[in-house]
Amino acid sequence: MKLILEGAAVATVAGDVYRDGHVVVEDNRIVAVGPGRYDGEGERTVLRGCLITPGLINCHHHLYQWATRGLAQQATLFEWLVELYPVWARIDERVLRAAARAGLAALLRSGCTTASDHHYVFPAGQDLLRVEIEVARELGIRFHPCRGSMDLGVSQGGLPPDSVVEDRDAIFAAYTAALDEFHDPSPGAMCRIALAPCSPFSVTRELMRETAVFARERGVRLHTHMAETVEEEAFCLERFGMRPVEYLEDLGWLGDDVWLAHCVHLSDREIARFGETRTGVAHCPSSNARLGAGIAPVMPLVRAGAPVGLGVDGAASNEAGELGGELRQALLAARLRGGPAAMTCAQALELATLHGARCLGREDELGTLEVGKLADLVWWRLDGIDHAGIDDPVAALVLGPRPMPEGVMVDGEFVVGNSELWSGDVEEIARELAEVALR
Ligand SMILES: [Zn+2]
Repeated sequence: MKLILEGAAVATVAGDVYRDGHVVVEDNRIVAVGPGRYDGEGERTVLRGCLITPGLINCHHHLYQWATRGLAQQATLFEWLVELYPVWARIDERVLRAAARAGLAALLRSGCTTASDHHYVFPAGQDLLRVEIEVARELGIRFHPCRGSMDLGVSQGGLPPDSVVEDRDAIFAAYTAALDEFHDPSPGAMCRIALAPCSPFSVTRELMRETAVFARERGVRLHTHMAETVEEEAFCLERFGMRPVEYLEDLGWLGDDVWLAHCVHLSDREIARFGETRTGVAHCPSSNARLGAGIAPVMPLVRAGAPVGLGVDGAASNEAGELGGELRQALLAARLRGGPAAMTCAQALELATLHGARCLGREDELGTLEVGKLADLVWWRLDGIDHAGIDDPVAALVLGPRPMPEGVMVDGEFVVGNSELWSGDVEEIARELAEVALR
C-alpha cells in the first residue's frame, strides 16, 4: 500500500523546492516525489500548511550526558571535563538507559531520524553500548553508535582520571564484540557501529593508529573530537610537537571514512586538506557557543569539499538536545563569522540532512527526498502562530522560532504524529530521568 503525503511544500534537498508537492512512500522507501497532486492510487494524507523535508541527521552526541546537565556552567572545555569525569565514572546501565531514552526522544521530537552517539565511558561490568542500542530500537530511530575509548589517564599525562580509562586489549576486544553483534552493513540498516577514540588528550598515539587500521580492516567508520579549543591545540603542540590536525594526519586519520566533531580551530591549509581528503566534520554550534570554544569555519570547509553535518553534542555542554534548533544556530554562527551572505537557509538545511548523511556514509540512502531513498522524513507545520506569514517555507523552518515537527517517519514507520512521540511515553521518560539525575 502506497502512502501519499501531499498538499504541502516539499524541500527535497536534491535541488527542488515545491510550494505544493507530494512525497509517496511504499514500505520503507520513497517511490515518488514531485510538484502538485500525486497521480496514482494509495492512502492520501493532505498536509496543507506544512513543509516536508528529509529527516535530520545528528552527527555528534553523548547521550549519557543527558543525566548531567547544568553543571560547570562557566567552565572552559578542560575545566568542564575535569569537573565532570568523576561524575561520569559512576554511570551505570540504569542511568544510561534513562539518559538515552530522554536524549533520543528529544531528537525524534525535533525532527531527527538518524542519530549518532559517541560513548566513551565504560565502567567495568556495565554493558552500556547494548543499553543504548536497545533504547534506539525501542524508540524507532536509525542509530549509528560509536564504540568510544580512552586509554590515556592522568598518570600518563592525559586529562581523565585513571579510573575512567581502559587498557588497549580490553578496548579491542570491545570493538570486536560491538561490530560482531550490532554492526549491520546491509542496505537500509537501522544500526551501524563506528569506532571512536575520544580525543587527543585522553587517547594514546598507539590507540589512535591501531583503531584506524582495525576500522579499515572491518570496513567501518572512524570518529573522534578534533580541534575544539585553543587548550587542545596547546596540549598537542606540547605533547606531540604538532597541531591537532597534523597529529591526526600523521596517524592516518584523514579520509572519506572519517568524521570529526567540532574542528573549530583550523588553518587555511588544514581546511584545504579536509576538502581534498573528504574528511567529514560534525559542527556543534550550540555546544561550541556554550563552552565559548569559538566558531567553526563551516562554509570554508564546505567550499573546500568537506561534508559538514550538524550535531547537538552532549547535553552537559548544551542543555538542550533538539536538532531542529541547531539549523538556526548554525546559520547565525556562520553569519557572525562570515557576514550576512555566509550561509543561506537552504544551506543550513542541507548541512542537517545531506551533509549529515555523507558524514555517516549513508549518502546513497539518506539525506534527500529522492526516489529509491529510505523513507526517513519529517513534516513541519508552518501555518501556526509561530511561523505563519514567513513567505519562504525553508526560511520559516530555519530562521523562525524553534521548529518542532508535526510528524516524523523513520524507515516508513510513523514515530511522531500530531507533534506527539508515538514510540514512547514522554512523561514517564522525564520521571525516570529526574530520578537517576538526582541519584
Ligand atoms: Zn563531544
